[in-house]
Amino acid sequence: MDVVLYFCAMQILDGKIVSQAVKDDLKAKALLLKNETQKVPHLAAILVGSDGASETYVASKIKSCSEIGFKSSLVRLPADVEEQTLVSAIQQLNEDKDIDGILVQLPLPKHIDENKIIGLINPDKDVDGFHPVSVGKMVQGLPTFIPATPYGIMLLLKHYQIETSGKHAVVIGRSNIVGRPISILLNQNSNPGNCTVTVCHSRTKNLKEICLQADIIVAALGSAGFLTADMVKQNAVVIDVGITRVDDPSKKSGYRLRGDVDFDAVAPLTSYITPVPGGVGLMTIAALLTNTFNAATQNNN
Ligand code: NAD
Repeated sequence: MDVVLYFCAMQILDGKIVSQAVKDDLKAKALLLKNETQKVPHLAAILVGSDGASETYVASKIKSCSEIGFKSSLVRLPADVEEQTLVSAIQQLNEDKDIDGILVQLPLPKHIDENKIIGLINPDKDVDGFHPVSVGKMVQGLPTFIPATPYGIMLLLKHYQIETSGKHAVVIGRSNIVGRPISILLNQNSNPGNCTVTVCHSRTKNLKEICLQADIIVAALGSAGFLTADMVKQNAVVIDVGITRVDDPSKKSGYRLRGDVDFDAVAPLTSYITPVPGGVGLMTIAALLTNTFNAATQNNN
């Protein structure tokens, strides 16, 4: 029997290093902006309720702002808040000239219409990039705020100079937050970009066969360890977006974070792979801060 040996020099796409580089750059730019114009980028976050994961995400966004010399404000509202109170909070932030970026931490409680709320944010302050105006511009390839997670993935691909042109990218997941926007960005005539993209979702048939054709896989479905080694071809680039809390009694918190990729089995097959934690999650914050800086400098013009 012939034995075929594959030599794969797998490299970790290190979100820690790249996000730190992005943050260092923003810190220097923010200092310059302050010295020249007195302007300090200011991000406002609205947190409704006290969901554990949302609390963690908002806390790290606020901490990152202070690390790089941005201002931040947190508006906390109870889980049973009336929709009109949230509407008023957004209107106030829209009108506040000192606020450059507004984010509403998702998901919102079921009694609140998420699309309505997102649609109320002034598009000039829409640093999450979820407003229909931002989405429309992104689809047309016009300058706008790109949703932070897909934007973070693009920054990571760019940093490691990963060749994407002409590659077949398979995106698992079609959410407005991750799957759909990253599929659009990878497909655009840009660098990174110019991929042939297949978007898979919960109704996709033959997912394994489709994944096996992929040069690049973006796993964004939210199912721990879903992408297994038998779904990945040699030398593929694997981007793991998933974050699932799984029980781990050995941890003080009682849980640990797992991605959508069966990392230990898949990593040896790949040319590049993102870890969880330490990959896309950190890049998401770096991208949000970049959007906030851009919002602040646009307002300044
Ligand atoms: P979502 O639930 O809105 O969307 C999941 C998508 O996966 C859907 O489009 C669904 O059709 C698809 N899907 C579900 N099961 C599937 C299956 N068996 N086969 C194929 N497709 C399937 O989730 P989301 O908001 O897009 O988030 C996805 C994951 O990414 C979650 O784990 C979330 O926590 C994580 N996330 C991480 C970051 C980050 O910064 N790293 C940011 C946002 C979301």
